[in-house]
Amino acid sequence: MPPSPPPAPPGPRTPLLAIKDLHVSYGMIEALHGVNIAVDQGEVVTLIGSNGAGKTTLLRTISGLLKPASGSILLDETTDLTKLPAYEIVRKGVSHSPEGRQVFAQLTIRENLILGAYQRHDADIGADMDKCFALFPVLKERQSQKSGTLSGGEQQMLAMGRALMARPRLLLLDEPSLGLAPLVVKKIFEIIREIAAAGTTIFLVEQNANMALGVAKRGYVLETGRVALADTAAALLASPAVREAYLGG
Ligand code: ATP
Repeated sequence: MPPSPPPAPPGPRTPLLAIKDLHVSYGMIEALHGVNIAVDQGEVVTLIGSNGAGKTTLLRTISGLLKPASGSILLDETTDLTKLPAYEIVRKGVSHSPEGRQVFAQLTIRENLILGAYQRHDADIGADMDKCFALFPVLKERQSQKSGTLSGGEQQMLAMGRALMARPRLLLLDEPSLGLAPLVVKKIFEIIREIAAAGTTIFLVEQNANMALGVAKRGYVLETGRVALADTAAALLASPAVREAYLGG
C-alpha cells in the first residue's frame, strides 16, 4: 500500500474566495478596517458577529453592491471581484441571498425563481427548478402564489432558492435565521447542509452563532469591522470568549 499523504495544513489551501485587507466606507465613516478572510472550494465558512459589526457590508462588497476604498476580493486567486459590476460577479458564479430575503412580493414564486437564473442562457433551467423544488417542496406546492403571501420562513427558502437558480459556485447567505421561529431555523440549517453536501461552497453570515458554527467547517468572528478571531468551527464553539459573547456564556 502506498504511504498515506501527510495531513493537510490547517486553513484553506486553494481559496475559491480570498478577501485581502478590505476597507469599506460609508462616506467618511469606515465600516470595514482591513478584513482578511478565505473560503476554500467546497467549504462552509461562517462569519459571526453582533449587530453593526459589518457582516452585511462585507457580503454586499463581495457581490459588487458596494465598492471598497481599498483591498481585493479574489475569486480563484485570479479575478478581482472589486473591479467587476454586480451582474458580472453573478456570472462568475457568486450568488447572494440577502438579509431580509428581498423577494419580489408581487411576483409568483416561480417568477422569482426564474429571475434568479436571469444571467444564464443554457437549457438546464427547468432541471434546476426541479432541484430547487426537491430542496424546498413548499415552494413547489405554492409556485403560482404571489411571494408576498409567504411566511417569513418560506420567503427565506425562496431567497435561497432564487440564489441557487444562478447555479453558483459560491453561495453567500446573509442571516438566513433572522426573525424565524426555532423550528423553521432548524429546517433552514438542514437545507444549508444539503446544499453544501451537493457541492456548493457557502459563506454564511449569522448572528445565530450556535447554528452557524454547527454547520460550518471554519469560522471568523467580526467585531466592529475587524476580524477578531479565526479558527475551526469546533474551536470557536469551545472558545470561552465566543461562548461568552455569542453563545450566552
Ligand atoms: P446587522 O446584523 O445589524 O445587519 P451587520 O454586522 O450586518 O449588522 P452592517 O449592516 O454591515 O453590520 O453595518 C456595519 C456598520 O456600517 C454599522 O456601523 C452601520 O451603522 C454602518 N452602515 C451600514 N449601512 C450603512 C449605510 N447605508 N450608510 C451609513 N452607514 C451604514
